[in-house]
Amino acid sequence: MNSAFYSGPVFAMARQQFVDVSDYLEIQPDERDRLLYPKRAIAVSCPIHRDNGETAVFQGFRVQHHLTLGPTKGGTRFSPTLEIGEVAALAVWMSWKCALAGLPYGGAKGGVAVDPFALSRREMEALSRRYMQEMIPFVGSHIDVMAPDMGTNEQVMAWFMDTYSMYKGSTVNEIVTGKPVFAGGTAGRREATGRGVVHLIGRAMEHLRIEPAGATAIVQGFGNVGAVAAACLVERGVRVTGISDHTIAYFDPKGFDVAAAQAHVAETGVLRGFADYAAIDPQQLLCQRCDVLIPAAVECVITEDNAARLECRILAEAANGPTTPGADKIIAESGTDIFVIPDILCNAGGVIVSYFEWVQGLQRVFWDEAEVVERLYRVLDRSFEQVIRRAERDCVTNRNSALAIGVDKVRAAKASRGLFP
Ligand code: NAD
Repeated sequence: MNSAFYSGPVFAMARQQFVDVSDYLEIQPDERDRLLYPKRAIAVSCPIHRDNGETAVFQGFRVQHHLTLGPTKGGTRFSPTLEIGEVAALAVWMSWKCALAGLPYGGAKGGVAVDPFALSRREMEALSRRYMQEMIPFVGSHIDVMAPDMGTNEQVMAWFMDTYSMYKGSTVNEIVTGKPVFAGGTAGRREATGRGVVHLIGRAMEHLRIEPAGATAIVQGFGNVGAVAAACLVERGVRVTGISDHTIAYFDPKGFDVAAAQAHVAETGVLRGFADYAAIDPQQLLCQRCDVLIPAAVECVITEDNAARLECRILAEAANGPTTPGADKIIAESGTDIFVIPDILCNAGGVIVSYFEWVQGLQRVFWDEAEVVERLYRVLDRSFEQVIRRAERDCVTNRNSALAIGVDKVRAAKASRGLFP
């Protein structure tokens, strides 16, 4: 299959990673297309009334990658540049991520091409509800379960759940995950991704014999994932010397008061204005010396242009797809000894706790936060061990090891179920 439908740089990246791992796994060409290309893609138009009385129409998408292991699962992104290839790539990565963690899901992803910062709260609610309304024929608690991603949050999930429930005539809280706890969510979901990132950084530090106290970290992106990761690092004694968002980047070797930065963002919505004395070019931020570099924003930020200039010991990929295949090659061949925690492992905490939320919702049984965190760390520890063991055994990168574990599981399930009819 030579699909021109799924295009763009982000899908090209997901495809290239898949080709690399398929070569390593010696997957035959006729099996590759069935594994890579999404089962379904849905495109919708979402009209809303703007506050000024005009009508505006936004393009929405949902891609469901494979249905072999259970319902599909994945986040919803509101971003001005969103296009179908990016959504498809994120759905594909989600499949390998769920399989690596042993979750009974295929990957999905969706979103709306919109700048969420340009919407009022009322417009955001109208768009969220209209998007879910358009998706009702294609989603369900056992079909496709949504969650937050960039540009969406707990509140948006509550609106999605309410819209779906109004249509069904009864509350269906397992239709989305990442809801507020008081609307049927689980304790520990909001923090899960950032917390998981930092737990895995802790495991990598043990592996490399780096002491957290006195170590330094730079975090790109200060949203749900980046800000929580920064706060968890501080709890472990790590000095956060760099932070950034889409408005500004800061670097100060003395470190930042992360709690104060979080309070500033809660009040103003952005980092700008928090510590302008320490402003730095956002590109330069990634190349400053640190023990841990955490891209926690958008794709393709570590590229062939800056990969050779990275000065970190651990690259913890909290974002999806932050490192291009070209940059991967430079990092692997440069002998710089950067330990990469690949995205499908590093940020898996989010979907793992989403799975816990779904299970609790279906059973109407709720666990306390300590239980959620303990179960989360158990799954992450198992995945971390599997990834580094396979990487060492087969002399492959951590990324190829992680992808191979995920792809192998989906492949085995497809082979055993056969091809219908
Ligand atoms: P968010 O919307 O809460 O925050 C995104 C942050 O990135 C914001 O601070 C924004 O200002 C910043 N940002 C945007 N563009 C930027 C740029 N060009 N340079 C620097 N900063 C920029 O989103 P999030 O939920 O924290 O997601 C961040 C990343 O983590 C995404 O790649 C997402 O797919 C991934 N992820 C999120 C979750 C989750 O549970 N939310 C789970 C797994 C992976």
